[in-house]
Amino acid sequence: MKISIDDLQAYLANRYCGWATEQSMFMKLVEEIGEVAEVLNKRAGRKASDENDLHEQLGVELVDMIHYIVAIAAINEIDLTTLMIEKDKKASVKYHHTINLETFLSEKK
Ligand SMILES: [Mg+2]
Repeated sequence: MKISIDDLQAYLANRYCGWATEQSMFMKLVEEIGEVAEVLNKRAGRKASDENDLHEQLGVELVDMIHYIVAIAAINEIDLTTLMIEKDKKASVKYHHTINLETFLSEKK
């Protein structure tokens, strides 16, 4: 099953709108960023680890980060998909990329 950012955002809007605050979601995001840092430190040998699948753990913590990032957008009714395409378009011009996200997606179809 594939999920789109729009789908995830609609799901999280349904879950969080009306009671969650952007501040509480941001604090959860910062916690998750710390958990990603912990996994990366373990992978680099800077922190002891008895976990045997740090690759899977990294994925789990990245998913947690995405969850709260999209939740913050959802409760603020920010259209992440449109903004990502617009921002990438500007960045691709600024940094002279050979292709931008919108073109990439349209050529993929
Ligand atoms: Mg986590």
